Amino acid sequence: MEKRYISKDPLSESSQFVRGVGPARQVLLSRLGIGTVEDLLLHVPRKYYDRGDLITISKVAPGKLSTFVATVLAASPRRLRGGRSMMTVVVGDETGTVNLVFFNQPYLEKQFKSGVRVLVSGEPVLYKGARQLVSPEHEIISGDLNRSLLDTGRIVPVYPLTSGISQRMMRKVISAALEKSSNSIRENLPSGLLEREGFIGRREALCQIHHPKSWDDLERARARLKFEEVFFLHLLLKERRCGFTRERRRPKVEPPYGMFERFLGSLPFTLTAAQMRVIGEIRADLEDSRGLNRLLQGDVGSGKTIVGLAAMLMTVESGFQAALMVPTEILAQQHYQRTQRYLEGFGLRVELLIGSNPKQEKASVQKGLGDGSVDIVIGTHALIQEGISFKQLGIAVIDEQHRFGVRQRATLGSGDVLPHFLVMTATPIPRSLAQIVYGDLELSLIDELPTGKRSVTTEIVSRDEVESVYQTVREAFSRGRQAFVLYPLVEESERSDLLAATQEFERLQREELSGFPIGLLHGRMSFEEKSKAIGLFREGKILGLVTTTVIEVGVDVPNASILVINNPERFGLAQLHQLRGRVGRGGDPGRCFLVTGEESGTRSRSRLAYFARVSDGFKVAEEDLRMRGPGEIWGVRQSGYPVFRLINPLSDNDIVQRSWSETDRLLKTDPGLENRENRVVSDYFRRYYKTKLELAEIG
Ligand code: ADP
Ligand code: MG
Repeated sequence: MEKRYISKDPLSESSQFVRGVGPARQVLLSRLGIGTVEDLLLHVPRKYYDRGDLITISKVAPGKLSTFVATVLAASPRRLRGGRSMMTVVVGDETGTVNLVFFNQPYLEKQFKSGVRVLVSGEPVLYKGARQLVSPEHEIISGDLNRSLLDTGRIVPVYPLTSGISQRMMRKVISAALEKSSNSIRENLPSGLLEREGFIGRREALCQIHHPKSWDDLERARARLKFEEVFFLHLLLKERRCGFTRERRRPKVEPPYGMFERFLGSLPFTLTAAQMRVIGEIRADLEDSRGLNRLLQGDVGSGKTIVGLAAMLMTVESGFQAALMVPTEILAQQHYQRTQRYLEGFGLRVELLIGSNPKQEKASVQKGLGDGSVDIVIGTHALIQEGISFKQLGIAVIDEQHRFGVRQRATLGSGDVLPHFLVMTATPIPRSLAQIVYGDLELSLIDELPTGKRSVTTEIVSRDEVESVYQTVREAFSRGRQAFVLYPLVEESERSDLLAATQEFERLQREELSGFPIGLLHGRMSFEEKSKAIGLFREGKILGLVTTTVIEVGVDVPNASILVINNPERFGLAQLHQLRGRVGRGGDPGRCFLVTGEESGTRSRSRLAYFARVSDGFKVAEEDLRMRGPGEIWGVRQSGYPVFRLINPLSDNDIVQRSWSETDRLLKTDPGLENRENRVVSDYFRRYYKTKLELAEIG
């Protein structure tokens, strides 16, 4: 056999061998996700300084972004109450002095030795008549300025760092990486696409993103690299979808749907047009050989459950089993009871499977799943635990997808038959983000509420005015209405928060709500205690439920009309919206009170004000996304998807759409990526996305 010389691709070499790195720094770099030379090249600046913008201190003016070089004159750290600390650093140049202020960063004291030169960038404010910059961007300059900025040109990159790696060091290392390997950077997009989009080449883009000659050049580099980022992610997601359906058969679902018709007829209401439309979309998928892989979005209370049940029934009457998986035991029980009621007399075996079922019961359900005698099972993640196997699972409906990863979805299947998937979420995801995060799912939307526009008014109240809120609650109680009073529980292990709910319960019983029957519900209670509390509340035996976020997902008590949320600043807006959906489900309009604590800053105030003003869940979710960044929400990060370097799914919606159609076009004309001009794509895809592919599968 011919012996081929395999030249190692310099870009996939370890970054450890780049000049200035070495084994010790490599350990630090890997904390930033940098393992190879290419990772270094893709470690893009988070911002840039323009040297042309450097000013003297005399020109530093309040409210104006100011970048200047100055010398440290004095640094004075100070202890504040409550263990907080503050440091004032006086810096100056030949034209004057200005103060820099830092809170709770005592380690900075070591950096700001007097005489040290520092590059500062930030927006000054006036404080007691003096100019000061609070927590400005800063960079210690060692040696002369040009050397420190590495002669990067007029526009100087500023990188994301990790402790132990200075800005200067990062600039040096990335410059060295570029020097060493820029000649080996190869194109990874087809030439036709480059032409259509007017993109610059990859090598040029990677050089310019670090050392742009002008702001226009930088823009071109960013546009090209953003596109590349989302393009390969889309390919990955679509490839996975093809892989799924190519290798595994889907359960064959076909009419007649007698049970489904009977079910619709027996409902005490008629479905909304949106519900009917989505059921139609689902049915078309079920009957198609490619099967159902759908994400159903619909605001809280839009009636997703019925739609899910409809899909399950159609599949069951074609001879398969159906599973509904939900995130909490309470919710599982609620769905189970309701489903049993709906399907009474249908001759179907419907079962509940949750972790706290007695052993014997569990075993019997387990057996029924295995021998096919259970038609419909409703449960929690207990459904995907070891030892559970279905005879013929035809469909898995997953409620509130954001609690489940991709892997869990995959484990529901078995053998060469892949069940149909319907995932339902009330956290609306802007289309562009959905295409990134759930690129393997089609999207459906229920954009209509059954009872018309449900009104929940949201009011912000400060802690000192809370008495007026309880006045309202008491009035509602006297009219037989019910209320939730909610306390934050960020982490189940956060004992202090849990105590808050428990203590507050006792206090409310003694004080504000004394004389009224109220109950307590939180995540640390046993399942029996929880369902007892919920049961009493549902039956109206208790009027107030003091609780935590356990009520977030799907607890449905139509008579509850008031929700009091304490410390709302601790929650994301999308989560607050979910919570708000718990009230106003019956006849009475809902009222949601946000009782803000002392710690609430201006940023969180304006966030809550936005939330109080806007009732559209999509708008709220977009704002949430904008404020918190896409990595933070919907468990995107936890589920193993790549964190985005350049793309912002919201503001770059346009790029996401173009990439979506370019990848469609590519896979349609050349599914195996075998054409000559597409080799560059498949080479890159294989090389760099093998790891990511595994990541996404593991999810
Ligand atoms: P969600 O989309 O939040 O999961 P659910 O499926 O729990 O909403 O439905 C909320 C409530 O609305 C339930 O009590 C359900 O029975 C009721 N519902 C669903 N569809 C309709 C409809 N078309 N007309 C009236 N009520 C409906
Ligand atoms: Mg629901």
